Amino acid sequence: MKLIGKLTGVILSTFLIIPLTVSADYHAGGRTSPIFTAYYDGSVASYGYTAHLDTGRTAWYQVGKVNISKSSSNSSSYDEYYVGTNTDPTLLGAQTPYKNGTVPGTHVFAGWDGTWKYSVLSLYDNNMNNAGFSYNDKVGVAVHEVGHTLALKHTTAPNLSVMASGTWAGNPTYLPTTYDIGQLKAKWGITP
Ligand SMILES: [Zn+2]
Repeated sequence: MKLIGKLTGVILSTFLIIPLTVSADYHAGGRTSPIFTAYYDGSVASYGYTAHLDTGRTAWYQVGKVNISKSSSNSSSYDEYYVGTNTDPTLLGAQTPYKNGTVPGTHVFAGWDGTWKYSVLSLYDNNMNNAGFSYNDKVGVAVHEVGHTLALKHTTAPNLSVMASGTWAGNPTYLPTTYDIGQLKAKWGITP
């Protein structure tokens, strides 16, 4: 009986330790604010991804706190959305953060922990089609990449998440989960 008691104690301790060791799934860097505008390049409409990216933006909306507006004309601080093709079949989409370069008018990679001026978001139509992606599967990739523009990283813990590495066809979620919204709020200091 004493042995069982000791074992139970060990198991409980293990469970209590786990939440303390889970790291946050967001970058130290990012924009200075999660309220900004995204420019839709003409390729978004020509490849038929306007609705996917509309959902990608609005899925993360938090009243008064997180809001990505949409624009059909570009500006230096706007995120930029593109749709095209990529020869690497494993690439479904990409997000790259930029900051001003030392030469005026140029932009360079901002670094994940730096301060971002804007992101370039790309979706790769050929690779999603070749992988047999459904409409919702493609929306999931759009939501995932927009999540990256809000400084969310790939989810490391075994949580249901649209930010899982390599959002694949048939992913059980194509929208932000409770876990994802929790990470978004933690990153941007949103309470409750
Ligand atoms: Zn990703």
